[in-house]
Amino acid sequence: MKAASFDYARASDLEHALALLNQHGFDAKLIAGGQSLVPMMAMRLVRPAVLVDIHRLPALRQRRIEAQQVRTGAAVRQRELEDDAGLLAALPLLRAALAWVGHTQTRNRGTVGGSLAHADPAAELPLAAAVLGATLHLRSQGAERGVAAADFFQGAMATALHETEVLVEIDWPRWEGPGVHSAFDEVAMRQGDFAMASAACQLQIDAAGVCRRAALGIGALDGAPRVFPALSAQLIGQRIDARLARDVAQAAAAQTEPGSDLHADADYRRELGAVLMVRVLMQASAAATAAPTGAATP
Ligand code: FAD
Repeated sequence: MKAASFDYARASDLEHALALLNQHGFDAKLIAGGQSLVPMMAMRLVRPAVLVDIHRLPALRQRRIEAQQVRTGAAVRQRELEDDAGLLAALPLLRAALAWVGHTQTRNRGTVGGSLAHADPAAELPLAAAVLGATLHLRSQGAERGVAAADFFQGAMATALHETEVLVEIDWPRWEGPGVHSAFDEVAMRQGDFAMASAACQLQIDAAGVCRRAALGIGALDGAPRVFPALSAQLIGQRIDARLARDVAQAAAAQTEPGSDLHADADYRRELGAVLMVRVLMQASAAATAAPTGAATP
């Protein structure tokens, strides 16, 4: 199928994009890399009357590594992050997640903000944002607000974005100090497909092998990424072994509410989530054991 007819406007700057959104309201859709929106339009799942192109806006393309966080503009290409060794050293979980996002070709055009705003339940970057506790900065004409990732993702392809808002940039918290290790794993029908289930964790483990900080998440099983602060807290002060990993993973997966389809039923997906959570916990804690005393994942 082909998209229904639409008008196209390339925003000259952010204010111009905001003015167009204000003028057209629900009839307008922002387009960044087009890697999700264009297929949705071709299948006539969305029929915007006006496309507002923000893919080239300099105001949405900056990247900054700061002491407490890394700030990325919403229109930064996924591929640009992949190629930024300094940024990924500061955010090892983002590096682990990016490798699973689509294909090189889609990452060349697909943007960080587009993936977050599209909010596919199986997308990897929303899970990474939720696990790290990222803050998403949304701007409309005359107003700006910061929304925590846990509040931004509200269900399958449902976010806190209003129709007149642009996601401008994302603050990714950095964990200070040594011993930070992360892992991301998923199962998909084919390499590059969206996940059937995914799991992510970031741990801070001291030189004695004791966990001092933990953040866990499971993706693709619910409408929005799931994080487990209470279960993460149970890991603090512990040495993570297979039994503890399995207990925490089973408890996490039990809180999810996956659906069933022709590929897998809910019980299978839930079990998959638990298996992946064990894998990432063991991967991250093994990385800590293998790393020189107190070093972080390179
Ligand atoms: P677009 O498609 O341009 O827009 C997506 C949505 O976000 C639209 O509703 C748009 O209005 C909105 N939007 C975009 N930018 C902003 C902004 N700054 N503020 C507010 N709203 C905004 N993704 C995965 O996560 N995992 C995968 O495995 C995966 N596999 C893929 C395989 C293929 C073959 C393809 C074509 C895509 C795949 N994707 C996958 C999707 C890809 O990652 C997209 O890059 C991403 O989902 C959307 O990024 P985009 O910049 O192309 O956004």
